Amino acid sequence: MGYKFEDLPQLVDHRKSIPKNGNYSKRTQSIKTRVWHHSLTKKDLAGSIASAFANYHISLGWPGAGYAFIIEPKNIVNTPKGKRARIVYANDISLRTFHVGNSNQYSLGACVAGDYRFDGLDDATKATIDELQEALVADKIGEEDKSHNEMPGYGWKDCCVFNYKEAFKFLDAKKPTAAPGTYKIQEGDTFWGIANNDEGITVEDLITANPGVDPAKLQIGQVINLGKAKNAYTPKPSAPKKPQSTYKYPLPAGVWKHYEKGGKRGSFDEVKQIQRALNAVNFKCGKEDGWYGDKVEDAVTRFQKVYLPYEIDGKYGPNTKKKLQAVLKSKGY
Ligand SMILES: [Zn+2]
Repeated sequence: MGYKFEDLPQLVDHRKSIPKNGNYSKRTQSIKTRVWHHSLTKKDLAGSIASAFANYHISLGWPGAGYAFIIEPKNIVNTPKGKRARIVYANDISLRTFHVGNSNQYSLGACVAGDYRFDGLDDATKATIDELQEALVADKIGEEDKSHNEMPGYGWKDCCVFNYKEAFKFLDAKKPTAAPGTYKIQEGDTFWGIANNDEGITVEDLITANPGVDPAKLQIGQVINLGKAKNAYTPKPSAPKKPQSTYKYPLPAGVWKHYEKGGKRGSFDEVKQIQRALNAVNFKCGKEDGWYGDKVEDAVTRFQKVYLPYEIDGKYGPNTKKKLQAVLKSKGY
């Protein structure tokens, strides 16, 4: 059985490769406390990485790095959810590593590289702290979080000094699931971004649950239906493929683009079909005259911003067709 924390895309498993000089013994008690540390080495120094801490701890006569997890703000990982500081999984959670003296048996050590008496936590690091803690909670690894200096006997220690409880909440404002009924649009939000969460709410669900909202023109502060959106649009079991001619809004094949940018010049029935479909799903493109001009290009672009955020080019092709077909279907056409 795997743990959720092991699936974090910013986590690398270095349990076998990190420098060692012996073995930590297994815990004889289960994990109760997740203990948060910082490394007291400024985060931009070359040595502010997991392997350097392991070597330092070996120099103290320890079997290896004193923590299960080491977060490295120097090593930024691009994940589907954005930039994250890397997590080095340094010691198996079953091992009693050295980090809080008499409390080691029941304590799990997580260290954030950096000297937070002087450094500030950056967003990629806060996001990683938040996601790691959340995964550990979901995995039922430990029952509480404490900083090093909240552990018995360590009140004098400048560790971890960063506000770890703040970091645990870092992503909450962006988590639509925190607002069960509705969600307030924040700067930079798109339906695609809001839908891209753990709740399984799709862009089609959001469109269906928010009939009056133009997804291409979201306003900061605008309130949308979110809780109700889940499964608002349930695709019907895929019916046998019908020929396009049997649809109310048949869509043409091929690639169509602006007539001034290499597209065909003139009025075409295929472009009329595209125009009708765009107008039907409220990506207005003006008169259905068969010319692929500025208005069609603009409407296709707006459509792609919502449904194909990695393919915004204003051209109509197979992917745009597929999405357009799905949206038409979600509206009952
Ligand atoms: Zn510490």
